[in-house]
Amino acid sequence: MTTQESVPGHAAKRVEVHVEGVVQGVGFRPFVYALATRLGLAGRVRNDVNGVRIEVEGALAGVEEFLTALERDAPALSGIDRVTVVSAPPTGRTGFTIAESDPSGRRRALVSADTATCDDCLRELADPADRRHRYPFVNCTNCGPRFTIVRGVPYDRLLTTMAPYGMCPDCAAEYHDPADRRFHAQPTCCPACGPRLRLLDARGTELCGDPVTACAALLHAGKVVAIKGLGGFHLAVPAGHEEATAALRGRKHREDKPFAVMVADLEQARALCEVDDAAAALLTSRARPVVLLPRRAGAPVATQVAPGNRSLGLMLPYTPLHHLLMADLAAPMVLTSGNVSDEPIAYEDADALARLGGIADAFLVHDRGIHVRADDSVVRPVAGAAVMVRRARGYAPEPLPLPLPAARAVLACGAELKSTFCLAEGGRAFVSQHIGDLENHETLRSFVEGIDHFCGLFDIRPEVVAHDLHPEYLSTKHALEIPGVELVGVQHHHAHVASCLADNGETGPVIGVAFDGLGYGPDGTLWGGEFLRADLVSFERLGHLARVPMPGGAAAIRQPWRMAAAHLRDTRPELDVARRNAARWADVCVMAERGVNAPLTSSAGRLFDAVSALLGVRDAVTYEGQAAIELEQLADPAEQGAYPVEITTGDVLVVEGGDLVRAAADDLAGGVPPAVISARFHNGLGEALVRCCAALRETTGLESVALSGGVFQNVLLLERAVRRLREEGFRVLTHRRVPANDGGVSLGQAAIAAARTRP
Ligand SMILES: [Zn+2]
Ligand SMILES: [Zn+2]
Repeated sequence: MTTQESVPGHAAKRVEVHVEGVVQGVGFRPFVYALATRLGLAGRVRNDVNGVRIEVEGALAGVEEFLTALERDAPALSGIDRVTVVSAPPTGRTGFTIAESDPSGRRRALVSADTATCDDCLRELADPADRRHRYPFVNCTNCGPRFTIVRGVPYDRLLTTMAPYGMCPDCAAEYHDPADRRFHAQPTCCPACGPRLRLLDARGTELCGDPVTACAALLHAGKVVAIKGLGGFHLAVPAGHEEATAALRGRKHREDKPFAVMVADLEQARALCEVDDAAAALLTSRARPVVLLPRRAGAPVATQVAPGNRSLGLMLPYTPLHHLLMADLAAPMVLTSGNVSDEPIAYEDADALARLGGIADAFLVHDRGIHVRADDSVVRPVAGAAVMVRRARGYAPEPLPLPLPAARAVLACGAELKSTFCLAEGGRAFVSQHIGDLENHETLRSFVEGIDHFCGLFDIRPEVVAHDLHPEYLSTKHALEIPGVELVGVQHHHAHVASCLADNGETGPVIGVAFDGLGYGPDGTLWGGEFLRADLVSFERLGHLARVPMPGGAAAIRQPWRMAAAHLRDTRPELDVARRNAARWADVCVMAERGVNAPLTSSAGRLFDAVSALLGVRDAVTYEGQAAIELEQLADPAEQGAYPVEITTGDVLVVEGGDLVRAAADDLAGGVPPAVISARFHNGLGEALVRCCAALRETTGLESVALSGGVFQNVLLLERAVRRLREEGFRVLTHRRVPANDGGVSLGQAAIAAARTRP
């Protein structure tokens, strides 16, 4: 042994490293190049179909430092799933190179999500001396469009919507320079070679002047402008402009949902809402979701932005165009989905002009195509953590881990409302972006095309297809039409609980509490207030809310007053809800009484509907969950009282939810303020949930509770249930990365299908 070799760190060492995960299109190879060069190591790095392959050799200490730093200092946008290191005999070669990609074999490299403009690019955007000064498409390896512009893999400019743009010599030089922050940044461009912005009037005629400045002037004047963003078109008006916001709401038709508001920075956000550290972190995260925050009293936003809502959805600019526009406008701006009522968001220029022509006075468009439509994601900070409400831009299509790997490739088709699908293979689940309610042709097309696109992108050929049990869901029908696959039918609320398990990396069994609108029950009734013993393979129904008739079936979903009638019948003719609906009240009570056209349901959502109508909040709704959402907004958070609920025991526990409705009616008749009644209802349901879980712990021995279903988007109920369950000694699982609502069902279906088809 020579002296030199006996000194630790000086021996020559060669390793071959394979990095899997989100490592392409995120500046990984330049990072590896810079790291190896700094440590004086030789070798090469290249993309392959599974990720990035590195060969590196040099002094042992250097190689060890390289391996440590590889994971510790990886680029911001990367997400490393796995690093495999194999030792090899040193070759003695010198120099480090970035080699050509290896396009052979199966494609598994992951496409990253779209990412907010980074600080380096913002500096260029604001610098009059920079060649990209005020250029609305500035991006680099650390930021910019990804998922929404990718047509195929490997991730390469020619397979993105930037393919038509040849790089100018300056851009090409940056692109080919391993030391440049735009090395292999596929969408890179500049004013000399890249896409351009145009401002069009409502007929599609181009307006002159600087498009951004002119657009800001139109907005100032109270015009509605359709603006092409990353994942589709938005409709914009100044958030403080009463007439403009009212006009926008009027033109969007029967649209009661709150508008999201873009603010320039945290300071502007703090003027509108209470922003704590957790909220600030979410607002400034690279995904830049819409963050639902408590609205300040007297916040300067027009009444039509979020009528009757205690929260506002705020987001910070996430494209260079947004930054330029917000700087010119110098005020918060409503930025809501560019669609009419329930249609999907428009993302193609011609389609936008056609569909939004009756809404927008002008169009700010550009010629960088959007290949995949993606709405803004929506999150809500609850107890210092982020709860996903809608998972789309900035998050999709990044994979989520499956608790039990899928031995065979799985497609899960999801539910019907707030639809998503999920592809899974091995330990990874790719949940699609939020697609919307599968009830019109355009959304269904988006769903079917999305599945094809994901299959191509991740090179997954599903052998197992999971679907809801509801025979009328379009997602179920789609699943049943796929030839040559093994079908796995999954009960809706089992999928909810499994989704919560998967979200927490667990397999169960747990006491699963699934509260939502409606889901198909195997007994032919409509479920939605369920207590299940569930793991990823099977479930058993151990309890549920008492069944009540839904007079008129689907009509009862649109008209919550019918649920009030179903609970109260003719016992309370003096109540306002009976008077307001006097013309049909008696008939509907008879329907409920006789069970004619009145399917039975144990739905928690319908229970909220009954109380919402009773208190005069909502007799009719325009979207699923509206009555419950507004009932939560009404509740007085300081009220700690809770209505008592009887729980009857038998083969299964039955929670008499109707007790809550009758107690609320008594209080209302006694002159108790509706805000107090709403709170006592929420608290009473929360207490009943805890008591039911405690009873089930006695019989099952299970100490863990998973909370899922759209009703748990209700923060008042969620926080109370979590706090009280913990006080009673339970371990509580809640959703984080996928929504508790039906948007998370596809992940649950995939987790169940993977577990059931294990060899
Ligand atoms: Zn950048
Ligand atoms: Zn250029």
